[in-house]
This record gives sequence, structure tokens and C-alpha cells, in this order.
Amino acid sequence: MKQTPEEKKIQDKMAPGILSLKGFLGNDNRHLHDIILEDKKVLEKLGKTREEIAERMSFFTNQAFENYDGCMIVENKFEVEYFSVRGRVICPFPAPGSYQKGRINFKNLEKDISLSWTPLNIHMIKAHGFFEGIGSANRLEPEILVKALF
Ligand SMILES: [Zn+2]
Repeated sequence: MKQTPEEKKIQDKMAPGILSLKGFLGNDNRHLHDIILEDKKVLEKLGKTREEIAERMSFFTNQAFENYDGCMIVENKFEVEYFSVRGRVICPFPAPGSYQKGRINFKNLEKDISLSWTPLNIHMIKAHGFFEGIGSANRLEPEILVKALF
């Protein structure tokens, strides 16, 4: 699909060194539109919405954030830990908001799946359906998220 000028502008902002050191796209050469569309199809197959995923990620993040004492266990089978990082990052999509730079480490102990994400990841999934490009350090595979979070 042909890229609109607006999409091109967003995608340019996702390059390394503009809003974040490593950028958001990894070595993914697809257009932003296609990256989002293909992840959307995966979610549809799995029967989860991006809102449900983001809500679950927010839940764990808040639990971990409120716990100052290193890692904690939630619902008997999830291990979460929040790492504060000073500063904020800006969302590359239009009407940009800024998000805390922290990071959460998450582990589903039952399924032995470890994940790591940032508050910006949650926002981009919820508001834009964007899980980052393939090869990006912060890419979250929808399939693995669904397996790990629920
Ligand atoms: Zn945004």
C-alpha cells in the first residue's frame, strides 16, 4: 500500500537518533501502515484487542511501580519489577504526548516467558496499534504478549 505523506512523516520520526537512540523500527523495511495492519491481523486471530493487551500491561506496570522493593509476584504467577529512568520520551505519532522513561521487566512464571516494556510501548499499542518494527529492541510480538499476559 502506498504511504501517505503523514505516515511518511511519522515513520521518519521513528528512525534511530530522532526521538530515541535506537528508533522504533529495527530493520523492518515495511511501511508503518503495513506493520500495524499485520499485527492487527495477528490479534484478530488470537481474539484479543489492543486495548485488552494495553490494559493488562498497565495493570502490571502499576503494580510494579507502586512496589518500591524490587520484584514482586502478582496473581501468584507473574513476576514484575519496575526500573525508573529519569526523563520522558515523546510518542512519534501525531498529537504527541510524553511518557515516563522507566522500564518494566515481566515474567510469566508458569509459562516461563519473560518480557520487557516501557510506558511508551503501552501507549503506542493502545492508541496506535503499534508494537514496533521487527528487529527493534523494544518490539513486542502480539502473539507472545497474548500468551504471556493472560
Ligand atoms: Zn501517541
